[in-house]
Amino acid sequence: STRLPKPVTTRRIVVANQKGGVGKTTTSVNLAVALAQGGLRVLVVDIDPQGNASTALGIPHVEGTPSTYEVLLDDMKLADAVVGSPEADNLFVLPATIDLAGAELELVSRVAREQKLLRAVREYLTDHEFDYVFYDCPPSLGLLTVNALVAATDILIPIQCEYYALEGVTQLMRTIQLVSGELNPELRLWAVLLTMFDGRTKLSAQVAEEVRNHFRDETLATVIPRSVRVSEAPSYGQTVITYDDHSVGADAYRTVAAELAARAAEEQS
Ligand code: ADP
Ligand code: MG
Repeated sequence: STRLPKPVTTRRIVVANQKGGVGKTTTSVNLAVALAQGGLRVLVVDIDPQGNASTALGIPHVEGTPSTYEVLLDDMKLADAVVGSPEADNLFVLPATIDLAGAELELVSRVAREQKLLRAVREYLTDHEFDYVFYDCPPSLGLLTVNALVAATDILIPIQCEYYALEGVTQLMRTIQLVSGELNPELRLWAVLLTMFDGRTKLSAQVAEEVRNHFRDETLATVIPRSVRVSEAPSYGQTVITYDDHSVGADAYRTVAAELAARAAEEQS
């Protein structure tokens, strides 16, 4: 596969949208594999108690597996929980287990509850070199997502080409502004990705246009088509890139990865 350029500095990308089913996990895991196959070192941090990113990247995550939960609540070091993914060389995962479902509430009474993930990731990155870190968020704007926003340099918002696509985006932008104002001044909206685009429907085209008007500079040129192969891959514990290398979905995610890698190679984070 084609080698991709290294970013100027490590990019920590939070894939966020509090709507469920818009393609956050699919985007996180496929971009991670595409970048890793391009020769870059990538870490995926699974922050959703469902653990869908862990599943797609072939990582066991039964209850009790060292995971994001222990990192956030038991001061476990990332180095003791991160594992390699069979999906690609240079691809590593901090898995999520169902234990994380309780973390949102358990974190409330902790000191520096919004900075738990940042501190853990920062310490890990001092002696582990990575080009990209992806945080795959749950469908809410609670403390888990806030931890990811605080631990990130960049935000990538996947938007599904469906009715009410922009619903909730105002609330998401308000949360981003709060976090960047109070907790993480380096955080910025980096990219908006149109997902599940259906070229046969007028609706998809209309939504795409609406999103491009709303996020003129941020919306990526490449759109992810709706494709059965993409939706089949997770049930095999794979990303679409390894499940069906030549599918339109795999191609689209590789193109997005190249688009992002080119941006990151040119700009300071
Ligand atoms: P989220 O993480 O935002 O909840 P997912 O990435 O899990 O969203 O996607 C929701 C569902 O849609 C999953 O079943 C996934 O396999 C499917 N899906 C995601 N992207 C596509 C696509 N481009 N084409 C078809 N199905 C998709
Ligand atoms: Mg998900």
